[in-house]
Amino acid sequence: MNYRAGDPLLSGTVNSTTSFTMRAQKVAADSNYASIVRLVEEAVDSRAPMVRLADRYAVPFTIVSLLIAGFAWFLSGDPVRFAEVLVVATPCPLLIATPVAFMGGMSSAAKLNVIIKDGGVLEVLARVRAVAFDKTGTLTEGKADVVEIHPAARTVDETLQLAAAAEQYSVHVFADPIVASARTQQLELPEVVTADEVATNGVLASLADGTSVRVGKPSFIEEVTGAIDRPVLSAGETAVYVSVGDELAGVIILSDPIREQSADTVSRLRRAGVAEIAMVTGDITSTAESVAHAVDIQTVHAETTPQTKVRIVQAMRPRPVLMVGDGINDAPVLAAADVGVAMAGRGATVASESAAAVITSNDIARVADVAYVSRRTVQIALQSIWMGIIISVGLMLVAASGYLPAVVGALLQEIVDFVAILSALRALRAHRGARRESPARREVPVG
Ligand code: ADP
Ligand code: MG
Repeated sequence: MNYRAGDPLLSGTVNSTTSFTMRAQKVAADSNYASIVRLVEEAVDSRAPMVRLADRYAVPFTIVSLLIAGFAWFLSGDPVRFAEVLVVATPCPLLIATPVAFMGGMSSAAKLNVIIKDGGVLEVLARVRAVAFDKTGTLTEGKADVVEIHPAARTVDETLQLAAAAEQYSVHVFADPIVASARTQQLELPEVVTADEVATNGVLASLADGTSVRVGKPSFIEEVTGAIDRPVLSAGETAVYVSVGDELAGVIILSDPIREQSADTVSRLRRAGVAEIAMVTGDITSTAESVAHAVDIQTVHAETTPQTKVRIVQAMRPRPVLMVGDGINDAPVLAAADVGVAMAGRGATVASESAAAVITSNDIARVADVAYVSRRTVQIALQSIWMGIIISVGLMLVAASGYLPAVVGALLQEIVDFVAILSALRALRAHRGARRESPARREVPVG
């Protein structure tokens, strides 16, 4: 966005090369951004700590090792036998296989343009049983185009001028196409004095001549206009309503096409064992249902706010629940879900801050890919742990019968550790399987 001298500046704006002087008119705590970050923090605090994978094996392994060593001592009457057994009781596969596999899994996910913020995320992703998708910008492209304008109290051009003036200050996916459309038609935009983005509703702006303009969804406009007629939309279309004062100025119809990979992603997740898939959107029911139908999602929650999104996702069963979203309004729910994945293909927002993983390539199929990589990583970690345990227990039994001197045992246990690490490193290639799982996308270059 290009600012000119005198323009209001949004918090979080990044300056490029020119220096400037800025006057702060609000304290940080009063910004919309701060209130959303507060919600995020509350949500993060309510998340249960994760149980670590290898810890489940540590105690039984120690007990079994001590039992074998004790029996060896008891049967042979030789305390050295006790030591010989314990030398090959290596805990290293338990300690190292998981972190090595998880580092590999994270690097593998990064090759698919998914940044995972910590290893624990992979463990939860691998077990995900329910998924909630945001609609606008997540299941749909979020690269909308103005298709048509239905004038009401104002003409087509005036409606677009008013909407574009307000949308200049919005980061919503519908803001850019509306502003761009006004620019292409070289429409002069009225001067805006203040503009507020009301999350999941739209923008509220006041113009220099004192009139107030609202751009957004019907319920937001109806707060000032009373009941309005809603145009009939075809699939892949959505409507943005514009009010001026207490009148409906007009309705802007935008095309917001469904991503090509959305339906396939939903079906891959189902095949991978996800029992419940829902859509949670701020948009109106009719648009939400037509998109849900096209991608084969049966559970639809429409007209939600950032707060109700949190409640819906927290109530979802079975757990763990994965939330996929993109907008500022998704930041709290991304943090509240057991694992949140942000779509950040068009740039990072506060959603990327609160999510546990971020897809940087604007490709929704990565959700199914990263779920695959996670399952594969956990599988590799467990295989490596078990391989280590089995070889180690085998060696303990050999040592128990007195055929393994401690020095040889010490060397062999290093080899067991080495094998476990090599095995865990297979997770570095987990992403290759994800591409195999989705043959249609095999030729997409990954790098
Ligand atoms: P979702 O939850 O599916 O991502 P949003 O909450 O971002 O959807 O938006 C829901 C609806 O609110 C949009 O479909 C649109 O009608 C309206 N809306 C929200 N913000 C804006 C905005 N800045 N400009 C126009 N419409 C908006
Ligand atoms: Mg969205």
